[in-house]
This record gives sequence, C-alpha cells and structure tokens, in this order.
Amino acid sequence: MLVSQILRSKGDLVFTAKPDDTVAQVARLLNDLRVGALVVLDADRVVGIVSERDVVRMMAEAGADALERPVSACMTKDVVYAEPGETVDHLLSRMTDRRFRHLPVCRNERLVGIVSIGDLVKAKISEVEAEADGLKAYIAAS
Ligand code: AMP
Repeated sequence: MLVSQILRSKGDLVFTAKPDDTVAQVARLLNDLRVGALVVLDADRVVGIVSERDVVRMMAEAGADALERPVSACMTKDVVYAEPGETVDHLLSRMTDRRFRHLPVCRNERLVGIVSIGDLVKAKISEVEAEADGLKAYIAAS
C-alpha cells in the first residue's frame, strides 16, 4: 500500500504552527486538535516539526518558563519527509529506525499531507486482513 492511498482516505490537512508561537500555544493546539505533532511553517516554508515529546522535554528543562518560549527553541529543524509514492512498509521501518511517529508528506517540495504511525499501522492491519481473507476464500474454493 502507498502513502498516497492513505492520504486519499484521511485527507491532506496538515496542522501547523509558526516559529514564534509560544510553547503554551502549541501545547493548547496539540490538545485541542488531538494530534501528536505540528509542522512549523515560516510563511509557506517548512522550518521544523514539534511533537508532544519536544514540549515535555522543554518543560522538564525549563519548568514553567518553557511556556513563554518560542516553539523554534524546541522544534526539530532537520525534518524527515515521506513521498506519496512510498510504501507503508518502507515508512514504518523509517519511523522505527529514526524513533519518531510522524512524517510530513511532500510532493515536488510541496507539503501534501502528514502520516502518523497510527495511520500506517491501521493501513498495514487492513492490508494484512485483506490478504488473509483472500487466502481463506482461495482455500475454501479449492
Ligand atoms: P514523535 O515520536 O513524532 O512524537 O517525535 C519524537 C521526536 O522526533 C521529537 O523530537 C520530534 O520533533 C521529532 N520528529 C518527529 N517527527 C519527525 C520528522 N518527520 N522528522 C524529524 N524529526 C521528527
């Protein structure tokens, strides 16, 4: 299964923050939107990604002061992307190797969606179930 198929069913909406947004604003957004990460955009350019983990780390390091700091102080600047034509298996191993759970999807350097490890695991389970159903039908018919 390809990433483009997942985006076709889940849509291309990507929740974003701005580099100057405070950690408190980002924490509120993550909670309200019920997502684990936001892509950080400066105008239309991706400059980072911030996840719940970054907020927790900043809070642990700076305590209550963290809340007023800009998200640019805790985001990951070196963003790893997926492309729409990549397979779910490929991305699951990239996430496992790199130890993160979110991958923005880019086509021709344009942000076209984001997938989480939850989206990928759900797609993988559907794929495996469809294969099992196919095999069961084949065995029953033979
Ligand atoms: P996560 O597991 O996605 O909550 O993120 C764990 C750490 O990896 C955090 O420091 C994130 O900023 C970072 N991270 C998450 N997704 C990516 C990504 N696609 N590229 C680079 N870093 C990421």
